[in-house]
Amino acid sequence: MASCIFCDIIGGTAGATVVYEGESVLGFLPLPEGRLAEGHVLVVSKRHVTDLFDATEPDLHALILGVRRVSDALRSALGASGVNVLSASGPNSDQSVFHVHFHVVPRWEGDGLWTWPAGKSEHRVRGDAAALIRKHFAGLGGG
Ligand SMILES: [Zn+2]
Repeated sequence: MASCIFCDIIGGTAGATVVYEGESVLGFLPLPEGRLAEGHVLVVSKRHVTDLFDATEPDLHALILGVRRVSDALRSALGASGVNVLSASGPNSDQSVFHVHFHVVPRWEGDGLWTWPAGKSEHRVRGDAAALIRKHFAGLGGG
């Protein structure tokens, strides 16, 4: 496997400012040039998992719980009024580190940040997107 900067951080061979450690997730600050706000935290699984598609349900449970715990800390410790949770998975998603992670960005009134994408996809789905998604789940027998 190619080297993974997040695995190096988890293994202690690369430095990072760790702010949260759970049983199976770690929270640390991105590199300064990648921070969208003070207190921007990356929540990653300690196990190397490429992306959402590669993650098991226990991985996902731990990750979203870690996101919630970090979000609580950003409100309590930094006075954030809310958070944005950002993640990318798979080709053409702009995922930059291929180890599943969620950005948790604290938000304050009048902070000048705009995290919702400004553009819209030019890709056109063949058929009705909602109907195709429902058909997918119907094929799985629910759940
Ligand atoms: Zn990794």
